[in-house]
Amino acid sequence: MTAASAAAAAYIVAALLFILSLAGLSRHETAKAGNAYGIAGMAIALAATIGLATRSASGVGIALLAVAMVIGAAIGLWRAAKVEMTGMPELIAMLHSFVGLAAVLVGWNGYLSVEADAGEQTEVATDLLGIHSAEVVIGVFIGAVTFTGSIVAFLKLSGRIKSNPLMLPSHNLLNLGALVVFAVLTVVFVVEPNLVVLSAVTLVALALGWHLVASIGGGDMPVVVSMLNSYSGWAAAASGFLLGNDLLIVTGALVGSSGAYLSYIMCKAMNRSFLSVIAGGFGNEGSVSDDKDYGEHTEISAEDTADLLRDASSVIITPGYGMAVAQAQGAVAELTRKLRAKGVDVRFGIHPVAGRLPGHMNVLLAEAKVPYDVVLEMDEINDDFAGTDVVLVIGANDTVNPAATEDPGSPIAGMPVLTVWEAERVVVFKRSMSTGYAGVQNPLFFRENSRMLFGDARERVEDILRAL
Ligand code: NDP
Repeated sequence: MTAASAAAAAYIVAALLFILSLAGLSRHETAKAGNAYGIAGMAIALAATIGLATRSASGVGIALLAVAMVIGAAIGLWRAAKVEMTGMPELIAMLHSFVGLAAVLVGWNGYLSVEADAGEQTEVATDLLGIHSAEVVIGVFIGAVTFTGSIVAFLKLSGRIKSNPLMLPSHNLLNLGALVVFAVLTVVFVVEPNLVVLSAVTLVALALGWHLVASIGGGDMPVVVSMLNSYSGWAAAASGFLLGNDLLIVTGALVGSSGAYLSYIMCKAMNRSFLSVIAGGFGNEGSVSDDKDYGEHTEISAEDTADLLRDASSVIITPGYGMAVAQAQGAVAELTRKLRAKGVDVRFGIHPVAGRLPGHMNVLLAEAKVPYDVVLEMDEINDDFAGTDVVLVIGANDTVNPAATEDPGSPIAGMPVLTVWEAERVVVFKRSMSTGYAGVQNPLFFRENSRMLFGDARERVEDILRAL
């Protein structure tokens, strides 16, 4: 067997492992196995690629490869070990930007080593040269959009820039104009590849990526993260075509299509138009400014909350980003055990975008060993709030905001939310009256049946445990 056919066989095995990995990751029970398949697939893919590269590379090339891998692996291990669960989305956004940058570099390298190099050009059949040029320009475009888009997402998610949508005049026309310019430049580049056109495509794509994500408001960021995930997949697939690497094409397509599907599911869950979000907040003309008088809020102590829980027969807990910040999942799990032992029916209601990444709350609750069967999705539990005695809103805000269903002028209007206010009593755990991620005030806090329990969520839950 030649080295090339051994590598091709290894690539097929790795691709199958990646498909098994995706299938495994789609369910709680099989997620760990899914992760293991993914790791195995990546190990095989790396070994095969390195094996293939070292056969044709020079000594210097191999040394460079080894140094790059050691530095990359060290940084990756260091960041992954250090990252908090709440910092995961920004880390992911950052990693997507690397995929985008890599695709831009691969594209430029493709141009410099083929189209710009008369000697090499003869090695690519003339009729295939046009296809190669199209691959270069498309790869660079997708990569550059992913690169700057992911950087803006990183800056927004980490709070380094405001999450409000940037609303330049005629922003939709700007996006559309960039796409038209890209289409024209692609044709020009295929007909006559040259440095100026490729530079122009790169600049247009960098600006478009920045503008697309900057135009999307806080509440729609979850969709943006999965959309960038999808773009990074297509960027990798484009690089696969340029490098003639089948596995990169397959893996890129898997990431691209699963990311697109996840974006679609999240848009449906948030009642957003998929096209409007991927087009950079098309139709989103809302701005976040609010000087409405919502009235007075009422506070409650941990002891009184414990009394409420003691008298309740049904309790629903709706966790949000604040539970992750406070690392309150262990205490919440303990509270669940205690109440269930007293015969109280305790369940969890999970909003599809609670926290800062898809499945964030499910991961935390699983980690704290809350049984899966009491953790329900929004659609499964929303009709049950009306018959519930007490709802504990633990660090959630946007996902329980009645303005989404009641105020058509709200920036989160139309987004389905957990209808916690229909319960007899709602206790909201947070540290202040400040807004959630979307920057919108929450009328729930001022409702007659709502009580505010201020302070760090973990400390307050521990206070309740003591009082119980
Ligand atoms: P929010 O981000 O709307 O609100 C979280 C609340 O937690 C804040 O109001 C904050 O109030 C409170 N909080 C923070 N720290 C603590 C603490 N230590 N103890 C107690 N409370 C605390 O959360 P939700 O989960 O309801 O909504 C998620 C939002 O994030 C949505 O807008 C969603 O679109 C967005 N998003 C989701 C992503 C996803 O994939 N899931 C990705 C990116 C964004 P205070 O400061 O007063 O304590």
